Amino acid sequence: MQDLSRRIFLEKLGLGAGTAVLASALPYPLLAATPEAPLPADRKLNVALCGLGNYASALADGLQASLYCRLAGVVTGHPEKAREWKQKYNLPDKNIYNYQNFDTIAANKDIDLVYVVLPNALHKEYTVRAARAGKHIICEKPMATSVQDCREMIAACQKAGVQLAIGYRLHYEPTHLEIKRLGQQKVFGQVRMIDAGLGYQTYDIKEITNPPHINTATEWRLNKALSGGGPLMDLGIYCIQAARYIMGQEPVSVTGQYGPVVNKARFKEVEESITWQMNFPGGAVANCTTSCGYNIDRLFASADEGYFELSPALSYGPFKGKTSKGVIDFPVINQQAKQLDEIGKLILQNQPLPSHITGAEGLKDVKIIEAIYQSAQTQKKVMV
Ligand code: NAD
Repeated sequence: MQDLSRRIFLEKLGLGAGTAVLASALPYPLLAATPEAPLPADRKLNVALCGLGNYASALADGLQASLYCRLAGVVTGHPEKAREWKQKYNLPDKNIYNYQNFDTIAANKDIDLVYVVLPNALHKEYTVRAARAGKHIICEKPMATSVQDCREMIAACQKAGVQLAIGYRLHYEPTHLEIKRLGQQKVFGQVRMIDAGLGYQTYDIKEITNPPHINTATEWRLNKALSGGGPLMDLGIYCIQAARYIMGQEPVSVTGQYGPVVNKARFKEVEESITWQMNFPGGAVANCTTSCGYNIDRLFASADEGYFELSPALSYGPFKGKTSKGVIDFPVINQQAKQLDEIGKLILQNQPLPSHITGAEGLKDVKIIEAIYQSAQTQKKVMV
């Protein structure tokens, strides 16, 4: 089980070496909407990573492999991390910020975009501050810990005239573009039922006997004030996303059920597991599960004339799948580089980002998450 723990999983994420960026056009109609404008010669989008934890390292690798973006700066509360990143990525002192002087980034013409990779509850503050500083923003998923915060983030970006993307890396990943196509274009007829699960046993034997304090920085996912919730916020959002982009529709109602708490010391504030159902217009149902207590990573969709499925499905991959007619087999790509390139290219061309990766999309997921929690608490179906 240790192999599948979140830590090992994150280590496996060192995607940079040996993975190719897929440069060809992707078979997903939503991505083809904007006309190509010429890219400024030799111009790359200058990105500052805000929060230097695990996922920031994966993004830094993606930035190294990116064609249109470069790592230009960092925002960190730890002077030793600032020194380490400065040396590793050859960053000038003037592009290194802490959380106190962050707003002075407004005067720095060498930073175009701030990528917010902080604990969920801090997404709003740093997105709003980056917008006020006139910087474009990519904010990690989940967009925020409440619908209200999402609305404030969107409003701040609109007011400042900057673009806001959410870190939905799978929207650029070829296997997921294919399952969107299979679902939305009804390649196997109307999808009737989806089964989606993503979970990792995020503790090992040692930690169970000596549980970490839920308020330590490294355990922010267990601290409700910082995370907004448990695995539903962190992992379940991928199941919500997959069901929504397979259907190409929004759910009309949800029902949710909390799972048992096996590790009571660890899961004092947030759920350990949760299952939920999403009902779509026309009657299709998505049955989803997420957990920090057990491992699961699969996606299945049944349609009138066939099925398609992936396992691994919703993690970092490599994804494997099949349909009722054959295998699903796409090249492994550097997901972070691809996502950064697609977003960076449009911002450099001064083009609007496609709505399926903007704040409007992030808000839809957070709205569904709020409804699932409400249903699990009240044990009633909740209209979305
Ligand atoms: P992490 O714990 O590894 O890193 C969080 C960083 O935030 C740390 O550097 C920490 O020092 C900093 N921080 C600043 N203020 C903090 C505070 N008050 N408390 C705790 N930490 C504080 O977390 P992570 O795994 O890098 O996740 C960061 C964000 O990225 C989350 O929103 C998560 O959902 C998202 N994420 C996305 C993906 C993806 O595939 N898109 C993968 C992992 C994480």
